[in-house]
Amino acid sequence: MEALITPLSTPSPSLSHKHYSSSFSPLTTSTCSFYFPKPNNYLTHRVHTSKYGNFLDFIPENKSTPIDDVDINWVDPLRKARLDVIIVGAGPAGLCLAERVARQGVRVCCVDPDPLSMWPNNYGSWVDELSSLGLDSCFDKTWPMACVHVNEHKTKYLDRPYGRINRKMLKMLLLEGCVSNGVKFHKGKVWKINHQEFESSIVCDDGNEFKASLIVDASGFASSFVEYDKPRNHGYQIAHGILAEVEDHPFDLDKMLLMDWRDSHLGNEPDLRVQNSRLPTFLYAMPFDSNLVFLEETSLVSRPVLSYKEIKSRMVARLRHMGIKVKRVIESEKCVIPMGGPLPVIPQPVMGFGGTTGLAHPSTGYMVTRTLALAPVLAEAITECLGSTRMIRGQPLYHRVWNGLWPIERRLTREYYRFGMETLLKLDLEGTRSFFDAFFDLNPEYWHGFLSSRLSLMELAMLSLSLFGHSSSASRFDIVTKCPVPLAKMMGNLVVESI
Ligand SMILES: Cc1cc2nc3c(=O)[nH]c(=O)nc-3n(C[C@H](O)[C@H](O)[C@H](O)COP(=O)(O)OP(=O)(O)OC[C@H]3O[C@@H](n4cnc5c(N)ncnc54)[C@H](O)[C@@H]3O)c2cc1C
Repeated sequence: MEALITPLSTPSPSLSHKHYSSSFSPLTTSTCSFYFPKPNNYLTHRVHTSKYGNFLDFIPENKSTPIDDVDINWVDPLRKARLDVIIVGAGPAGLCLAERVARQGVRVCCVDPDPLSMWPNNYGSWVDELSSLGLDSCFDKTWPMACVHVNEHKTKYLDRPYGRINRKMLKMLLLEGCVSNGVKFHKGKVWKINHQEFESSIVCDDGNEFKASLIVDASGFASSFVEYDKPRNHGYQIAHGILAEVEDHPFDLDKMLLMDWRDSHLGNEPDLRVQNSRLPTFLYAMPFDSNLVFLEETSLVSRPVLSYKEIKSRMVARLRHMGIKVKRVIESEKCVIPMGGPLPVIPQPVMGFGGTTGLAHPSTGYMVTRTLALAPVLAEAITECLGSTRMIRGQPLYHRVWNGLWPIERRLTREYYRFGMETLLKLDLEGTRSFFDAFFDLNPEYWHGFLSSRLSLMELAMLSLSLFGHSSSASRFDIVTKCPVPLAKMMGNLVVESI
């Protein structure tokens, strides 16, 4: 695949130097050079007095520093310069699309309350996904293998490298790409979007108004600019994550822990155990060195969303059982990702991209690398209409861009991934364990392809048959008894989508 950020696939030395002069150094495969600010007596004291006997009361120490190494170009609101595309949001989706579209000579402005702030989320990805986009340099650290504890007695080792994305590096590369391709920025929150026949406008919280032929909403999951005409019956991934300094931990440093479904830590917590056996959560862990680890207790998918308090209580019990004593919390995150649900109305005057438009994998919640990979696809549809040789605006433009991002084949395969999510929603702890036991026994082409959203409908059908073949009899019973309703819904949706 073509490199995503051609001019910048390797960061310049000056850039790396400046970039890491903030509060943290990068992690690499061989070394881990996090800079730890001096422990604070107050926090140390709370280790002993916290009512959880643990880390939940700790205040995350990392103060996010803005990116001051890139000089972005600001739009002059007084000049009322003609714009082709306005992109709302400077998250991964907004920036990678802005860079791609501007590269074709289209005039782009990206609007965000703080375009230079650090992205807050911790992103992980399979190494091959980011590498295929020419972005290998954007990992903090990679692990040659991943592992899954199916239960107390069974562990699977996955021969597929995994990495933690260096979000500052990725954002800087995208910003530099934007700068070199002429993207302009405006600092503000978009309040309102108005449409006329061939033109749309945004109104920002600072009173400024900008006009363009196309508005792309890349403002994340909470956006209300993109419209839906079907009930939004999402599942939700919810997780509590911390990057922590610990006294010690039991993880192998050469493996990341993708999922730990063990529940022995709940032996003395009957209420939590009963709940967990119905609505299971797992631990995800990225060990950076013997004292530094990212830990996340995760509900893969639930509907209604599992309580955050419950997740944190389970995490406390798990870490205590594993003998992990948290000394300091460097970062913490509450992760809530809407998964599955219907696609927005296609087409409509506001184009959506990223979290606003159903790009999150319905069965896993992963989205970053898929968004990066699809940015050129959407950019091409936009430039076909608004590039120098063509001037297609209004309804034909909306039709082209929406169908460019969501052609029928992609909509149909998404229905299948939604079916995967609906199936997972029906599984209890035992069912979930059996599912992943069989899933990770599949031919790697299937499970890699499924997790990376790159299987065709035919391949997905083959995967289903193969999964059934690899399943235990209990799991087959689950499939036969619990899948018919989601299967029938999927078939119905496939028919509706393909008409
Ligand atoms: C905690 C967490 C962890 C995640 N981890 C992973 C992971 O490991 N791997 C993975 O693949 N995916 C992960 N995801 C899922 C997904 O990739 C992220 O949510 C990703 O950040 C979505 O990108 P985005 O650009 O669509 O939206 P966002 O990253 O949410 O960016 C939206 C931007 O728009 C701005 N904005 C919002 N409203 C307005 C407005 N009205 N006007 C102007 N600007 C506005 C925001 O300030 C923000 O800068 C995670 C999600 C969360 C919440």
